[in-house]
Amino acid sequence: MNIIADLHTHTLACRHGFSTVTEVIRAAAEKKLLAVGLTEHGPGYPGSVSYAYFNTYRDIPAQMFGIRVLKGCEANLMDRDGKLDFTAEQLAKLDIVIASCHGEVTPCGSVEENTAMYLGAIRNPRVDVIGHPDSPKYPIDVLRVVQEAARCGVALEINNSSPAARPGSEAMCTAIIQAALQFGAKLAVASDAHYHMAVGEFSYALRLLKENNIPEEQVINSSWERLTNYLQQRRQAASSGD
Ligand SMILES: [Zn+2]
Ligand SMILES: [Zn+2]
Repeated sequence: MNIIADLHTHTLACRHGFSTVTEVIRAAAEKKLLAVGLTEHGPGYPGSVSYAYFNTYRDIPAQMFGIRVLKGCEANLMDRDGKLDFTAEQLAKLDIVIASCHGEVTPCGSVEENTAMYLGAIRNPRVDVIGHPDSPKYPIDVLRVVQEAARCGVALEINNSSPAARPGSEAMCTAIIQAALQFGAKLAVASDAHYHMAVGEFSYALRLLKENNIPEEQVINSSWERLTNYLQQRRQAASSGD
């Protein structure tokens, strides 16, 4: 399977990343990707940027070094209903929206509570990808979460940084992939790079997808056409619901 875009990256701006926006985009171009997602942590994450950062994306060209720059965010689930740290209007201006749980800001509860929280984010029409749903810190009812993601057409992320950032997450990630195969849920592959050298690194994610025989049609960033169709459909569906 060929992954044509890295949909999840961070920069110096969040204060625990180590590269500039320019370095991240250039690294993606050097890896021969066709697109890269700038998905800085939302304002709810301690030390990250304010909303003004995302509102100033207009100064970054949509094409740099010959590739498409997707100006997005990694929003935080802020409460047990899965509410995010952006308004719907703010999210509507972005090219890609990832929504994730982070121990620094997202409450952790029982399996029932965590599942309900994820379902809330999945039902948000402005969310394109659920980031690293494989976190063992947030145990969930995998079948319910994946089934709802399939129903709502939201992609679940296979995060290449999970083994390092979320030790012990492989079993949960595998369960998510197998459920995605069962229910036809869409998946997204991403590096979650916090340094430009990790941009475009997908070896762990691709191994898991291969081991579980996931067809490439199920992975939104396995072709340019699939990615653009997916993002376009999400935006059309979200605006028709306004
Ligand atoms: Zn994250
Ligand atoms: Zn991230």
